[in-house]
Amino acid sequence: MDFVDQASIHVKAGDGGAGCVSFRRERYVPKGGPDGGDGGDGGSVVFRVDPGLNTLQPFRYRRRFFAPRGAPGRGKNQHGKSGADLVVRVPPGTVVIDEATGLVLRDLTRPGETWVAARGGRGGRGNARFATATRQAPRYAQPGLPGEERRLRLELKLLAEVGLVGLPNAGKSTLLSRISAARPKVAAYPFTTLRPCLGVVTLPGGRSLVAADIPGLIEGAHRGLGMGLDFLRHVERTRVLLHVMDASEGPEAARRAYETVRAEMAAYGAGLDRKPGMVALNKVDLLAPADREAVKGAFAGEGTFLVSAATGEGLPGLLEALYAEVARAEAARGEGAGEEAVWKPGA
Ligand code: GDP
Ligand code: MG
Repeated sequence: MDFVDQASIHVKAGDGGAGCVSFRRERYVPKGGPDGGDGGDGGSVVFRVDPGLNTLQPFRYRRRFFAPRGAPGRGKNQHGKSGADLVVRVPPGTVVIDEATGLVLRDLTRPGETWVAARGGRGGRGNARFATATRQAPRYAQPGLPGEERRLRLELKLLAEVGLVGLPNAGKSTLLSRISAARPKVAAYPFTTLRPCLGVVTLPGGRSLVAADIPGLIEGAHRGLGMGLDFLRHVERTRVLLHVMDASEGPEAARRAYETVRAEMAAYGAGLDRKPGMVALNKVDLLAPADREAVKGAFAGEGTFLVSAATGEGLPGLLEALYAEVARAEAARGEGAGEEAVWKPGA
């Protein structure tokens, strides 16, 4: 049940600049000495782990990473400028594989960790460097060395940050397919989702969330019935739970569905019921305005949203709130706070 994000990219470091062949020219000095400068080094392509990233999606849009070359040396002993390094940010957990050999080159995990993916070529030495007592006018200089170049495959094990939980038929699959590029199976009967399905949700400003639609929870799941246990193990790894309820059956039914799922989580243990949770009251397109308020009233709390996976209503607000909640949970974890913030609707 692992989900892997993949990307194939082409990295090329800058070539070194050529060394220069040049001789001093001064009035009254008919044969000046060699004064050709060195070429600059080429820039390297450097990967850096950015904990703010969670997917390899950006590499779908950009696959070539070429660092600039070094400038050639010039006369009067002027060295060429070196090419700047090209820093490529990757999410924690990125595994780098050499496309040509299939070998794992590096496992990038620690925030801020860097790794040179392609080393820049050294600049060539100018002829000034080659002057000796016996060879006072060398007419040669070194060329710059080529920058390293290779094709890499990046792989990332995706970790769902948001887990969609709820009874079968609540609309989890529909919701996930609506908010992400994922296309989970949708059907009008229970237990259609046999395995968790992952989707990358993009928000304005290049932000993203990884969400998982998790197989329908049934009563008794913690005792290993149905798909329940497998599901709960996956839920354990998520940061925030989104309870999805079918609101079209009215407030009591929605509340019951919520309590059922919560009871299952508490019975499973492992702190599932203490995870930050939010509530999406789904299928509001089937409700009259007055009924919507009644359902929302049964879940008084700022983390409750009236949505329709079918029409898209209410989804942008829900996603923003989820993003903020995930960021809060991440921050709490970063501070070493053992307990995560708890929010309980209607409590
Ligand atoms: P899951 O079991 O929680 O994954 O539920 P599904 O996504 O498979 O949806 C169950 C049924 O509810 C399907 O027939 C969906 O078309 C329907 N459905 C889901 N969301 C909505 C919604 O917002 N409005 C309406 N009217 N139907 C929905
Ligand atoms: Mg489903």
